[in-house]
Formats: sequence, structure tokens, C-alpha cells
Amino acid sequence: MRLIFLGPPGVGKGTQAERLSAQRRIPKISTGDILREAVQKKTSLGVQAKSFIDGGKLVPDAVVIGIIRERMKEADSKEGFILDGFPRTVPQAQALISMLLQDQRSIDRVLNFELADDELIRRLTGRRSCPNCQAVYHLEYNPPKKPELCDRCSGKLIQRSDDQPETIRKRLEVYRSQTWPLVRFYEEQGVLRRIDGSGTPEEVYARLTAAIG
Ligand code: AMP
Repeated sequence: MRLIFLGPPGVGKGTQAERLSAQRRIPKISTGDILREAVQKKTSLGVQAKSFIDGGKLVPDAVVIGIIRERMKEADSKEGFILDGFPRTVPQAQALISMLLQDQRSIDRVLNFELADDELIRRLTGRRSCPNCQAVYHLEYNPPKKPELCDRCSGKLIQRSDDQPETIRKRLEVYRSQTWPLVRFYEEQGVLRRIDGSGTPEEVYARLTAAIG
């Protein structure tokens, strides 16, 4: 199954992708995770991407398309994948179509997660993540068992540099202007399903599995 998870920052795409990936045994491919890891390791990709991420802006299309092209060559994506945070612009979506076409593949479903802005901001400001294993928590909705420590690997949790109020506003603005057109793009192709992103992760997961069958 080849899936795209679409939706604004903070809607819970990553959390849902993580669960579905474990349950269906297909990889979750997140350009945000790949870029953050590169920033942490200070690779040339990371150095290039850092200022875009910290400013809440999109990393240039050519860079993220290159990342996905390389990642898709790995064997684990042959049986399916969940794309989380890619594509984010129409040119990225077009590049993905041609990439998949080369292997006679296509996208089965695009899940568009939806949530009101005030709740998105609440989720983003309370979000904490583990820089070691990428696990994600929320101070109120999904707190770690021990304060500030990852349940999975005991790493010290951090607040993402782009989860500050000013950057959050910018990211939502960028989402509306550059990513929102993809909803229409995939709707016209007949593969889009809308998912109400409100409620607990369990409630959203039940809606997700109902939508993909
Ligand atoms: P995310 O973890 O998906 O919220 O992504 C964090 C940041 O990484 C974004 O705000 C962008 O700066 C960058 N990024 C991630 N995915 C993409 C993409 N597909 N296109 C451009 N920039 C991206």
C-alpha cells in the first residue's frame, strides 16, 4: 500500500504514520525526520536545510525531491510506504508521480488530516520530541512517564526549534499557500480521503483504518 499523509503541521500525521507503519509493516518516510537528522549530524544537507526549517519555510523542491528519490531506491519501500510530510508543493507531487511511474507504480490513497487552527497551535506548542529515536509526546495529551525523558530510549526530550509561536504562525501560512493546493490536486485524481484529526490518537487511528480498509 502506497500512501501519502497530507495535512497542516501539528495535525498528528507523524503519530498516525508511526502507528500504521508498525501495524502494516511498511516504512514511514518523513522528509522532516530525514532533514532534522541531517541538521543534527551537521551534514551538508543539514547545513543547507537548517535556516529554512528554523524560519518555518520550505526547503527547496529540488533538495527534498532528491532526498525522496534516493530513499525510494531502498528495498523496504518496494512493498509500500507512508509518505509523511512529502509532497508539500505541486512540483513535488508531480516529481513523485514521474518517479513512481518509472517502476509502473502509483499512489493508492492520500489521507488529508483536518483540524481547526487553535487546536493545531495547542498541539504544536505542547509537543516534545526525542532527538535520539524521534518519538513524539505532548505535555498534556500524551506526556512521557518520567518528566522530560523518552519512554522508549530515555533520551532527554526537546522542543523542536520550529515549534516556537512565531515559527508556527509562519508554517501554517506556508501550509495554506503552498501545500493546500495539493488537496485539490489529489481530489481531482480521485485518491483523496478526508480524516477528522480531532480527538485522541486512538480515535483518529480508527478513522484512518476505516478510510484505507
Ligand atoms: P515536518 O516535520 O514535516 O513538520 O517538517 C519540518 C520542516 O522541514 C518544514 O517546516 C520544512 O522546513 C522542512 N520540510 C519537511 N518536509 C518538506 C518538504 N516536503 N518540502 C519542503 N520542506 C520540507
